[in-house]
Amino acid sequence: MARYIFITGGVVSSLGKGLASAALGALLQARGYTVRLRKLDPYLNVDPGTMSPFEHGEVFVTDDGAETDLDLGHYERFTGVAARNTDSISSGRVYSTVLEKERRGDYLGKTIQVIPHVTNEIKEFLHIGSDEVDFMLCEIGGTVGDIEALPFFEAIRQFSQDKPRGECIFMHLTLLPYLAASGELKTKPTQHSVKELRSIGIAPDILVCRSEHPIPDKERAKIGLFCNVRVDSVIAGYDLKSIYEAPLAYHAQGLDQAVLDAFGIAPAPKPDLAVWKDVYDRIHNTDGEVNVAIVGKYTQLEDAYKSIKEALIHGGMSNRVKVNVKWVDSEVFDDADAAPHLEGFDAILVPGGFGERGTEGKIKAAEFARLRKIPYLGICLGMQMAVIEAARNVGNMPDAGSEEFDHESGKKRFTPVVYHLKEWVQGNHKVKRNQGGDKGGTMRLGAYDAALTSGSKVAEIYGTTAIEERHRHRYEVDIQYKDKLEKTGLLFSGMSPDGRLPEIVEWQDHPWFIGVQFHPELKSKPFAPHPLFADFIRAAIETSRLV
Ligand code: GLN
Repeated sequence: MARYIFITGGVVSSLGKGLASAALGALLQARGYTVRLRKLDPYLNVDPGTMSPFEHGEVFVTDDGAETDLDLGHYERFTGVAARNTDSISSGRVYSTVLEKERRGDYLGKTIQVIPHVTNEIKEFLHIGSDEVDFMLCEIGGTVGDIEALPFFEAIRQFSQDKPRGECIFMHLTLLPYLAASGELKTKPTQHSVKELRSIGIAPDILVCRSEHPIPDKERAKIGLFCNVRVDSVIAGYDLKSIYEAPLAYHAQGLDQAVLDAFGIAPAPKPDLAVWKDVYDRIHNTDGEVNVAIVGKYTQLEDAYKSIKEALIHGGMSNRVKVNVKWVDSEVFDDADAAPHLEGFDAILVPGGFGERGTEGKIKAAEFARLRKIPYLGICLGMQMAVIEAARNVGNMPDAGSEEFDHESGKKRFTPVVYHLKEWVQGNHKVKRNQGGDKGGTMRLGAYDAALTSGSKVAEIYGTTAIEERHRHRYEVDIQYKDKLEKTGLLFSGMSPDGRLPEIVEWQDHPWFIGVQFHPELKSKPFAPHPLFADFIRAAIETSRLV
């Protein structure tokens, strides 16, 4: 049976709870344990699938097709454990399940209440898979004191009481603000936050205090005393140059030891931190740098492309170069020359996206990369734009476009080289979709196989012709244009196993021009960079040397 670690946050949001959880997961693995990480989000959306990236950052997709919080991306990047649908839950999902049960009459006429019906639903979720791992780390989104998070706090409190003593611990993250005028770190907000937590029945075993300045022993002792936490369980969380230093940094502060102590595990198994030392070395010992443009729509909000940014960093680590990422807003050159905005970059990446805004600029970015022989990686919408560019400018189809844009405008303006897919095959069953149905969960989501053409660039990069990658899209490149486009030199080098859905295209007379219908960034890890990102950065280094 798994031991449970509940991670909460106080004082302010954005403290890096997800990172601390992920780093702790990695440290427990380094000590030989198996782990799973879970996120409980208090918002009322059923999942983040329908939220704008401005609201919520990236939507992280799991192999089994769940649209989840971007923290699950951190969990995977640090532990390598593939997240599942059952690793993410929101108040919205909990309430909709409870209400479905109520409508079905499952509660036998009882009055439905937050306690016990909502809390029981949360507790059931926490139990899933508890016999599979040594440690289950469950992060509660938001900040203690939030009204909508209360059922989650109540549920974890009850859960720890239901379990035998010593099987659950609570770890709380807070902030120690620094007052420059008096040159002091202030502990009062932490004290208040712990007080708030204790008022709802949760006494933290570990406190992680984020601080921009070293925490003097005196302050640490004071926090321990006032918050009723052992001094060696008051852990400092300092700012780091790279998030991937977090496991080593938290280890140096004694986090994993404090956790094992809190569970009474002695002697603690020795950690093997070789992987994280290598990661550290690759971040700090680089030779040269490359400049990559991400040409997209949500460029003001880097979290919208979180996994892409991380995967580029991993690509840099694999080649021991620093990757400078610049966000370029494609809308700016929807109606203008793209060249002044794109010249000087060693590689261009067009990420996924939804809606027509900014797509003419993305098409121009694909054209620029093709003609100037600059490495191009098109992801999902970025692949669709590359195909439309090929059809328009090389395939003699000037009105090629995506049905997505016609659906949006309500006018028929384009020849749909990219069309709305309504039926497809997953494994050995058919999936169907009707237009005009719910917006949530209606995409081709999750892991699908693809067969690669042997001898193609992608087959060489992957080192295999059978791959599995994660998807999140409604539209597909239409195979009826495959032969025509292949004659122009755009090879359809990856297809769905039934040969109906194009998964990868590549320009044959180009040093590195690849479009993929899936999201390779979701599977990249610092200790196992995704081959496409590793090779994309290698190609960028070559381009940088040509200049
Ligand atoms: N909007 C496109 C589609 O739905 C691309 C989606 C994406 O880039 N994730 O097919």
